[in-house]
Amino acid sequence: MSLTPTPVVAGLFAGDGDDFTLLGTRCRACASVFFPREEFNCRNPGCQGGDLEEVPLSRRGRIWSYTDSRYRPPSPYVTNPELPWEPCALIAVELEAERMVVLGQAVPGITVADLAVGMEVEAVPGVLHEDAETSWTTWKWRPTGVTA
Ligand SMILES: [Zn+2]
Repeated sequence: MSLTPTPVVAGLFAGDGDDFTLLGTRCRACASVFFPREEFNCRNPGCQGGDLEEVPLSRRGRIWSYTDSRYRPPSPYVTNPELPWEPCALIAVELEAERMVVLGQAVPGITVADLAVGMEVEAVPGVLHEDAETSWTTWKWRPTGVTA
């Protein structure tokens, strides 16, 4: 029996392999990009736009900051409150084109000792946790020099 892969939050990413990408939205009026996605109102204070379209975000970025995560990360990062938080490397990545910072866990096996500010990482599919029937999927950050 195989588990059903299900995103922890719908609409934040797409793909499950080389086509994996984070999804944001972009204002058609001022081209501001939002992640997590903004659906109805542009958050640019100088823009009255309300027409936002879904766009794939840069797959790669550079580490802006990182930490050994001893606590649950804030929203939009989703965790299961019923399970104990397992410490992991948590990375804030500045996306290549958008210059916005997106939080996420490092892939399994990567610790803070493997990371450095400015290192290039890419978004890859990851599993947040599994229960009896479902593999809850999310994005994780993987240094681009790592292939495993
Ligand atoms: Zn706008």
